[in-house]
Amino acid sequence: MIKRLRRPAGSTLLPDGLPMISLQGLGISPGVVIARASLAHERPLPHIEPTPTQRTVEAERERLDQAITLTLKQLRKLRSKLDALPEEGRIEIDALLSVYERMLSHSRLVRAAHRRLTEDGLTAESAVQLESDVLAAQAGPQPGMPEEEIEGARRREGEFREVARRLLRNLTGVSFRAFSDIPGGSALLAEQIRPADAAVIDPNRIAAVVSEGGGVTDHTAIMLRALNVPAVLAVPDLLTHVSDGSLVIVDGSTGRVTVHPDSATLASAREAMAEEARERKGIGRLRRLPSRLLSGEDIELLANVEIPNELPLLHRNGATGIGLLRTEFLFDESAPLPDEDGQYAVYARIVTEMAGMNTTIRVLDWGGEKGLARLRQLGIDDHQEEENPALGVRGLRLLLRHPEILETQLCALLRASLDGPVRILLPMVSSVNEVIATRQIFERCARRLRRRGVRLPAELPPLGVMIETPAAALTAGALVMQADFLALGTNDLTMYTLAVDRAASMGSALYTTLHPAVLRLLRFSVDEGLRARRSVCVCGEIAADPHAVPLLIGMGLRSFSMSAASLPQVKRMVRSLTIEACDDLYRRAILTEDPVQLHEMVSQFAA
Ligand code: PEP
Ligand code: MG
Repeated sequence: MIKRLRRPAGSTLLPDGLPMISLQGLGISPGVVIARASLAHERPLPHIEPTPTQRTVEAERERLDQAITLTLKQLRKLRSKLDALPEEGRIEIDALLSVYERMLSHSRLVRAAHRRLTEDGLTAESAVQLESDVLAAQAGPQPGMPEEEIEGARRREGEFREVARRLLRNLTGVSFRAFSDIPGGSALLAEQIRPADAAVIDPNRIAAVVSEGGGVTDHTAIMLRALNVPAVLAVPDLLTHVSDGSLVIVDGSTGRVTVHPDSATLASAREAMAEEARERKGIGRLRRLPSRLLSGEDIELLANVEIPNELPLLHRNGATGIGLLRTEFLFDESAPLPDEDGQYAVYARIVTEMAGMNTTIRVLDWGGEKGLARLRQLGIDDHQEEENPALGVRGLRLLLRHPEILETQLCALLRASLDGPVRILLPMVSSVNEVIATRQIFERCARRLRRRGVRLPAELPPLGVMIETPAAALTAGALVMQADFLALGTNDLTMYTLAVDRAASMGSALYTTLHPAVLRLLRFSVDEGLRARRSVCVCGEIAADPHAVPLLIGMGLRSFSMSAASLPQVKRMVRSLTIEACDDLYRRAILTEDPVQLHEMVSQFAA
């Protein structure tokens, strides 16, 4: 566990006495830090000669091969340092290093650079530069590209540029910058921080990171979050305003960087740091405490996970399993669709990292507002004629129309169930026939795998149903006969019950899960689930609302799954409740017909 370097509040850093400058970037890793700036400049490359003056083609080929070998060696060395990183960073950088390694081994880049040496008589530097520019431009954002694909395209473009940068430094002998000589406790400021740089940053020495380039979702940002280093990226003109040794306040939550802060600003930053320290201490203590009511009943607190990078936070905040792993992230950018082996590798890694805790994985929930552009791209056109895709072919309905997608995912999940306790969840169910059909496919997949010689657990993993439609809620009695567990998807259930679009109206008064109609559907589902002795978990957003949790406990729920970040506040609430008080609240709430009254009752209870 990396210990985060923190200057104590009231440290001796004094104002510079220069005019204060406030800069705004993207806050990508939270935390407030007061520190002296340490600027890390990268030495520029020399001018690249297009053609060799003295060397032969053969010599250039050899230089290129040597640079590739050296770069691969450096990447291997970097990989050997990964063990010191937290899991999240390790996964991220490991995958990235593999991408770089592939680009250096018989790749298009290497083949084309060699061809340019022979056919155009270029220098190795110039061949690498030209060819990587072409490939980066092809991989990068294209005109008319759908919004959701741009981020990924930028990332791939960056990967080509990074490999070229490494090759060019090795070809020209201009060294990489080292962060090891940066004074301990400084804020590292640079034009650009690359993911591989982030991997060698020592969070015990570097108090914060700020750069002119970068974005919220790029590899660097993910790495810095994993390292738990407060960081702000994409600060325009950063280096024109800051010099080596300037006093800076970095706020990784708001993205604000204050240069030469005055005394009042310093004082409020110190207060923010003290508050953060108190909060961290509280969460650390809370994680070790049981999630138990004052009256003794245990309440299971699980995490919803959108991308595997969230796993460290899940552990830090004390989740005891995954209640909902949304698998859409796997299908987002990959073309063609991820195959069984590719999916298995991801599930197996997650399940293994959960170390024996339940991992509930939901099959692909495309349709509605999710994945429409990608569906069109793949020629899956069930949506073409739909005016309102939220009411059409989405979730399990889509998968049953395209069973090849479902079968591949189920096979991968079945294989992963040998690595740890997996539960499989079906989204957007509206009739029992869909569950029966899915179970038949599921069993067929298991038979097929066994015929292939794949070892599976003697008992297949539980198959659960999400209650997200009024139809599913009202037929929960039939569904539990076919399903092994239920998960209450209150986000969609609220939308379909109240006829309010969740995307457009989230946060508006119209869209509220605390509505008598939704509550009754939930009660109906919980009663049916518990009567059939099935486990019932709530995994919609309401599970993260500490005010609503007492009411749901009163309804009989004992399992909640939420974003990992919300877990401490829910646990705090759970530990302050008695079952009698929850039951009493629920008995009053279920009789209430008026949503406004219901809200008042719930917030008064928690106050
Ligand atoms: C839900 O609908 O409540 C749910 C958990 O699923 P999602 O938010 O992914 O649609
Ligand atoms: Mg849903």
